[in-house]
Amino acid sequence: MTDQRFDIVVVGGGIVGLATALHLTKHFPQLRLLLLEKEDRVGKHQTGHNSGVIHSGIYYKPGSLKARLCVEGARAMVEFCGQHNIPFEICGKVIVATSEEEFPRLQTLLERGEANGLSGVRPLNGEQIREIEPHCSGLRGIYVPATGITDYAAVSEKYAEVVAQQGGTVSVGTKVTGFTQRGGETVVETNRGAFATRYVVNCAGLHSDSVSRLAGQKPGVRIIPFRGEYYDLIPEKEYLVKSLIYPVPDPRFPFLGVHFTRRVRGGVDAGPNAVLAFKREGYRWRDFSMRDMAGTLGYSGFWRMAGKYWRYGMGEVHRSLSKRAFVQALQRLLPEIKSEDLVADGSGVRAQAVRPDGSLVDDFQFDRAGNTLNVYNVPSPAATASLAIGNAIVEMARTEFEI
Ligand SMILES: Cc1cc2nc3c(=O)[nH]c(=O)nc-3n(C[C@H](O)[C@H](O)[C@H](O)COP(=O)(O)OP(=O)(O)OC[C@H]3O[C@@H](n4cnc5c(N)ncnc54)[C@H](O)[C@@H]3O)c2cc1C
Repeated sequence: MTDQRFDIVVVGGGIVGLATALHLTKHFPQLRLLLLEKEDRVGKHQTGHNSGVIHSGIYYKPGSLKARLCVEGARAMVEFCGQHNIPFEICGKVIVATSEEEFPRLQTLLERGEANGLSGVRPLNGEQIREIEPHCSGLRGIYVPATGITDYAAVSEKYAEVVAQQGGTVSVGTKVTGFTQRGGETVVETNRGAFATRYVVNCAGLHSDSVSRLAGQKPGVRIIPFRGEYYDLIPEKEYLVKSLIYPVPDPRFPFLGVHFTRRVRGGVDAGPNAVLAFKREGYRWRDFSMRDMAGTLGYSGFWRMAGKYWRYGMGEVHRSLSKRAFVQALQRLLPEIKSEDLVADGSGVRAQAVRPDGSLVDDFQFDRAGNTLNVYNVPSPAATASLAIGNAIVEMARTEFEI
């Protein structure tokens, strides 16, 4: 039975779904909007398990959605945190090369920073690195002053509050289980009844492809979950890290390599790595879902990806299973760090869209199918970029749905 009617239903109460709902309720206050989140609170998955970094936009290909929306989104994030008293700090970061082979990639990053319009980005020699991070061993580096830190779980709770103030409804504990079409509208079925709507925006993160399949669509990509595990620096050793220390990333992968991140609420994290998760929301090695694994292993794109990247993957598994190997990777950045300085912390699982040919979707990806907008690939820096992504989705809804 359909008990309520809405104009737009947003599936997923992560930072992207909430930012989209925030912009929809702001720009179209006349629309009845419902956001459905299966967990008992918003921001419980990727949004609540990340590094908390406000990225500057230095990494991304000029002209890509990631580059544009990260730069725009970082500005909007800082303004939002300031307006709503959410803790944040623009602490800057260093990206450091620890071998000569990395110098050309460092140069590419510097050029990208300039092309993406970042101000104050500058090259560093070894001595200059140590003026900023006295314990870091980099040979050459880049200083990125615009990088900051915040608490994205707190940001998403505030987004939910603003959505409600602007007239939207946020319903937690409500899992979308199916869709049916009826007389020009969609009926969204959930564990708490059915809701009729004109439009759907699918922001289901790790489940965005499954939600799209529930609606009878063919997503064209599959979400493969990659867990990132963290260690915590013990309080007595936090002095080793002033702000954020990152390695030069391998451009073949969207992951940035294990790094040190100061947390806005105190403490320093080391990580995350990137290993295949055996469950879409699998935060530990022992978390296993037969259904999710059957989906991953039954996807030809997964095997093609594994064929291309198995060597990198094995290295990540080794660093996950052996603390010694993890510490060795960190020692390239901070030679003084020892195994006993680190204690295992939590983890997060990234939703990475993979194409049938095994390639990883690099840029953000939103698609329209009928009266649905599907947000398939919004990995890092999507928390930073969330307000700009929400705005871009609203612009897409405006033209595609003519609302
Ligand atoms: C380890 C890690 C570190 C990261 N570090 C950073 C960083 O420092 N800076 C940065 O900018 N980004 C970072 N990111 C990326 C960022 O966290 C994500 O890009 C962002 O949180 C994605 O938000 P989302 O709303 O798409 O997904 P999610 O936060 O996963 O939200 C999706 C929501 O959909 C809900 N859902 C799914 N299926 C259903 C259903 N059937 N019915 C109802 N609800 C459903 C889920 O419960 C979930 O709450 C990191 C990510 C990870 C994993």
